Amino acid sequence: MNDKQSVAYHPDTIAAQALGWVDRETRAVVPPLHVSSTFERDADNLYRSGRNYARADNPSFDQPEAVLAKLENGAAAMLFASGMAAATCAFQTLSPGDHVVAPKVMYWALRHWLANESHLGVDFIDMSDSDALARALIPGKTKMVWVETPANPLWDITDIEAAVALAHRAGARIAVDSTVATPVFTRPLELGADLVMHSATKYLNGHSDVVAGALVTREVDADWQKLKSLRAHLGGILGSFESFLLTRGMRTLFPRVRLAAANARDLANRLAAHPNISRVLYPGLADFPGHAVAALQMKGGFGAMLSIRVAGGETAAIESAARLHVWKRATSLGGVESLVEHRASVEGPGTPCPRDLLRLSVGIENIEDLYGDLAQALG
Ligand SMILES: *Cc1c(COP(=O)(O)O)cnc(C)c1O
Repeated sequence: MNDKQSVAYHPDTIAAQALGWVDRETRAVVPPLHVSSTFERDADNLYRSGRNYARADNPSFDQPEAVLAKLENGAAAMLFASGMAAATCAFQTLSPGDHVVAPKVMYWALRHWLANESHLGVDFIDMSDSDALARALIPGKTKMVWVETPANPLWDITDIEAAVALAHRAGARIAVDSTVATPVFTRPLELGADLVMHSATKYLNGHSDVVAGALVTREVDADWQKLKSLRAHLGGILGSFESFLLTRGMRTLFPRVRLAAANARDLANRLAAHPNISRVLYPGLADFPGHAVAALQMKGGFGAMLSIRVAGGETAAIESAARLHVWKRATSLGGVESLVEHRASVEGPGTPCPRDLLRLSVGIENIEDLYGDLAQALG
């Protein structure tokens, strides 16, 4: 049991103190890790603790779920074994053949699953264009609109409020993959979205040492109860130790993300002037197509992800990446260390990703080391 804070503190305070929970028995400020897979039944055959088996519910989830729900201003949160487990579970609430509208530019593995392996009828559209969404929605038939903003790896921006209005008018639910925006910069539930999804592997954990996912809901409704049941039955749950690490990671979410985003903004400005770069894709740049919407929707920063298009084309891009020392050539994003990836090598046929593009996940290192390494690698 924990003593819980009920006062409304600022989000950075809530994160730093992980809601300020203190273990009632030991007064530990870092609550203990629960590893038990099973829980004792009362003598009269009831489960008054509310727990019976750790696939359905694990006390190690309580604190990180409560912290994340609070940061997103949601009613409840659920942790999963990965971002993909969270996202696919959200789609499992739909029936075979249900109509879904999703973005053309979105996290590659989820797009692949939706297009090739899911039980759904999915239309992929330019989600940054409200008119395209309005045309794609089939009132009464479309059950879910999926938004990712900023969207991997071109950082397209979707106006969440506008998409919510269109989706709800058509009778569809709307979910937002907010992995890149993080609750530091955007709170989709406050803009009317029904669900928020995170790959907690990325900024929420922040140290590239946990694979985890999360869903957060605006309301605890019948759909949320169905999701709870699905998580227990599909079994894609997070481990206790990973839950503990995730809580620890979320404590530094705000300073990490703010510093990384400041680095990203500085880098985007400097790289935009580099002769060997034809284009910098970053929502914080004034000439970026989604900049005006991002400036209203994202509070206090534009995130720490950007992409560069190398003037010499694909070969020059891959050769430049090979000359980097500070930046590590690796997939994933959102860690404290900076990573670079040639996305077209990863994304298969049908990718909207240009072949001359390098994706940069900006970390919290010294900006001069980050820029200096890129400058020497680009020549
Ligand atoms: C990584 C990522 C995912 C998938 O999450 P996993 O934790 O790798 O399963 C989904 N969406 C976005 C935007 C991501 O970056």
